[in-house]
Amino acid sequence: LKIGPNILKFVVSASESNFHEEVYRLTTRDGLTQAHNKRHFMEHLERECERYNRYGGSVALIMFDIDHFKTINDTHGHLAGDAVLRELSTVTRECIRRNDFFARYGGEEFALILPECSEENAAKVCEKVRAAIEDHSFHFEDQSIPVTVSLGAAFLNETSQHKDSEAFIAAADAKLYEAKRGGRNRVCL
Ligand code: GH3
Ligand code: MG
Ligand code: MG
Repeated sequence: LKIGPNILKFVVSASESNFHEEVYRLTTRDGLTQAHNKRHFMEHLERECERYNRYGGSVALIMFDIDHFKTINDTHGHLAGDAVLRELSTVTRECIRRNDFFARYGGEEFALILPECSEENAAKVCEKVRAAIEDHSFHFEDQSIPVTVSLGAAFLNETSQHKDSEAFIAAADAKLYEAKRGGRNRVCL
């Protein structure tokens, strides 16, 4: 059906809409962990920043990174490392709400965007994720693998200086770096 410059197509068979859903999933999710991929994360964060600049409210951004992951790979092998990444994603998803956005930002670095989240609540989420990962028993084949993460959080609210997504990420990253430098397996806000 053509309306002006637009062509509307009615899909009768379910298989075609399934196909489009699958293409959408492949372009927005990370293949290993099924977390949102970095590209989709950047788009989502930019939209959250625009929404904040227009309407106010608050947004929390949490960046976290596995501690000494290189040692995990070196000790247990790369496949064990991959299994840890997958399992850590499952554990993290159990700590957050449906509205929260969970992404794999890089190799063993992850991000959470929490809309309308106070600093106090974000601190609770960070500690929940940190403790859940420390307490979870990660296994690969017959090996038990101790895993911890360091977390940093930044905010868009009345007191924040940054307004765009790049500066927002840099602020959360600086806090993550502080958590690493402070001894790892900890949260910095
Ligand atoms: P830190 O506590 O400072 O974060 O130390 P780290 O060892 O975790 O950090 P570093 O950046 O030195 O090492 C990260 C490692 O993550 C190196 C890289 O080979 C590994 N890595 C990145 N992506 C993957 C992946 O998809 N699978 C596996 N198994 N390893 C990965
Ligand atoms: Mg690391
Ligand atoms: Mg890293």
